[in-house]
Amino acid sequence: MKKEMVCISCPKGCRMTVEYEGDKVLEVLGNSCSKGWDYAVDEITKPVRIVTSTVKVRGGKLTVVPVKTNKPVRRHLIFDVMNEIYKAEVKAPVKEGQVIIKNAADSGADIIATLDLKKI
Ligand code: SF4
Repeated sequence: MKKEMVCISCPKGCRMTVEYEGDKVLEVLGNSCSKGWDYAVDEITKPVRIVTSTVKVRGGKLTVVPVKTNKPVRRHLIFDVMNEIYKAEVKAPVKEGQVIIKNAADSGADIIATLDLKKI
């Protein structure tokens, strides 16, 4: 099978064509360096993403605070991570970097606030 992807390992953003069978990468075309190959292998064998969203806030100047995972999580866990984020609620004040959910959905990643939020 063939898949088009963009390497995001550096700002150059090489457009690559990746040929693979199952989870074995056979050929990568379009990459300017070896990091592109590594990126392609990771995307085919264990794709990960940073998850961003918002969490409800009680007693804050805003009703939600933006959050993200503190590291990339396996793509198949994103739905479960989003479910935990959706159910979560935090009390103001919130500090940037504050852990809102520890080890969300057993992904190994924490959900952290990306903004300071004061009390009303
Ligand atoms: S293949 Fe190399 S040069 Fe191209 S985007 Fe990836 S890291 Fe950058």
